[in-house]
Amino acid sequence: MGINISAKNISKSYNNNFIFKNLHLDIAAGSFVSIMGASGSGKSTLLNALSGNDYVDKGNIFFDGVDITKLNDKEMALLRKTKLGFVYQFFNLIPTLKVKDNILLPIYLKNQKVSTVIKHYDTLCNILEIKALENKYPDQISGGEQQRVAIARSLIYKPEVLMLDEPTGNLDSQATLKVMEYLSKIHKEYNTTIIQVTHDEETIKYGTKTIHLVDGKIKE
Ligand code: ADP
Ligand code: MG
Repeated sequence: MGINISAKNISKSYNNNFIFKNLHLDIAAGSFVSIMGASGSGKSTLLNALSGNDYVDKGNIFFDGVDITKLNDKEMALLRKTKLGFVYQFFNLIPTLKVKDNILLPIYLKNQKVSTVIKHYDTLCNILEIKALENKYPDQISGGEQQRVAIARSLIYKPEVLMLDEPTGNLDSQATLKVMEYLSKIHKEYNTTIIQVTHDEETIKYGTKTIHLVDGKIKE
């Protein structure tokens, strides 16, 4: 498990302003990398590029040697539905769905039978300690719990890569600690390649490597 990610010479600009230029980045399979940087330094832009959420102007991004910048929309959608989990800062849970259905949503969307993942669903709920919440709605649980549900949803199809954009950015220090401990457990259990964007120093010790994004350049 775990995918090797390599960005070569990637550049991204908005309105002729470069957010980063000719950037190189290698993320080893199974590593847990934290990307740090000041607000507005381009962390989200970089993560969106690495995940194929957004296009780069130039350069290549390889997932185990496959250049994802060359994939068509259909191929990209398949990769994102099978190999890549993405967690947003604001959880993005569906308010009208119970916790259980939020977690299983990617399975419903793929028309896959729930029975094929139910064991994995239970394992994830146990690891993330959210089983007791499965019949609640998102507004009935805390922010930290919502983030753990969002993490379970991103992992339900066993992605080899998990990317998280400031997963603890909206959590208090206690909830942050819990989420990071669970991420660490997931990392050990599944050897998932994890890339988190963060500006919280406390969270980087859970990772295996920290890189800094400064003035559009990577400093390791
Ligand atoms: P971070 O996540 O590190 O806070 P972002 O990647 O969100 O930074 O943003 C980096 C810079 O790019 C900021 O100056 C932001 O205003 C700009 N930016 C981000 N998205 C867009 C967009 N869609 N259009 C124009 N500028 C953008
Ligand atoms: Mg951001």
